[in-house]
Amino acid sequence: SWPWRPVPYHTGTQTENTAACPLLSQHCRGTACPCLCVPERERLDKQKQHMARGLPKQKPIAGVEQVIVVASGKGGVGKSTTAVNLALGLMANDPHVTVGLLDADVYGPSIPKLMNLKGNPELTDKNLMRPLVNFGIPCMSMGFLVEDVAPIVWRGLMVMSAIEKLLRQVDWGLLDYLVVDMPPGTGDVQLSITQNIPIAGAVIVSTPQDIALLDARRGAEMFRKVNVPVLGLVQNMSVFQCPNCHHQTHIFGADGVRELARNLGVEMLGDIPLHLNIRETSDQGQPVVVSSPDSPEAEAYKKVASAVVQRLHKSSSG
Ligand code: ADP
Repeated sequence: SWPWRPVPYHTGTQTENTAACPLLSQHCRGTACPCLCVPERERLDKQKQHMARGLPKQKPIAGVEQVIVVASGKGGVGKSTTAVNLALGLMANDPHVTVGLLDADVYGPSIPKLMNLKGNPELTDKNLMRPLVNFGIPCMSMGFLVEDVAPIVWRGLMVMSAIEKLLRQVDWGLLDYLVVDMPPGTGDVQLSITQNIPIAGAVIVSTPQDIALLDARRGAEMFRKVNVPVLGLVQNMSVFQCPNCHHQTHIFGADGVRELARNLGVEMLGDIPLHLNIRETSDQGQPVVVSSPDSPEAEAYKKVASAVVQRLHKSSSG
């Protein structure tokens, strides 16, 4: 009778199970029966539908073609600096593309400072926030909405509603790429973002230090689990060149990120040197890609940007 249940198959005693298989109209041969998988498959399909109902539906951000998230396992490895210079690098490589920057790091938003932007976004007649623009890049950040984010004791629900606001209530216009500066780590906020919007790919930033690499691996694994393509890894601060004698020192190690990329089977998108120019220009709100566009540091970011575009092409063409 339906639902039909498989019974154990005993070699040589096929007659033991006399229930007729409703799909093949013949005596079922237990676990060896070719129809066995059918009820099981139906059960699994049902379970999948059930689970899908419980998950938030991914809804694209209006006007945005592709979302690139920049993530890191740990704070302080240069994620925000990379996000900003990646966005500027995408535009520097191809002035026809339109790029936006979303600061989803609600705990410590650094985009206002890095992009030299201040003020409250205006509202459109549809009650959407208009991003603030500098260097040709529209930006949105929690830092524009509250005076000082640091004293806020964030609770889970508040974070989610802040993220929801940043994801859904911004008038981006038309963008080829929206670069999202993710909060560091692999917690609920990161998961919620990946489940709410379709993401074209993730860029993971790490220093070559063992402790940072462990967290970077965790980050890559999280994205894989939620089916976000990992575009590749960026190795930051791997080499310091003495400005006087030009001797090169690998302060945090030389090739840790490259090795991790090999282990994970993902691409190495680029290597950004540890350079005073990057730190100073960032602090001044004049990112290196715009303030010293021909410097080797800016070139390194532009190389990352073109590797990202290549990987996006590859993953969209299968
Ligand atoms: P995260 O977003 O991972 O917390 P940030 O991008 O804010 O990290 O960078 C942390 C600090 O390191 C900042 O002061 C930034 O200017 C500096 N920094 C990042 N990358 C480099 C680099 N390649 N060379 C020099 N300083 C860097």
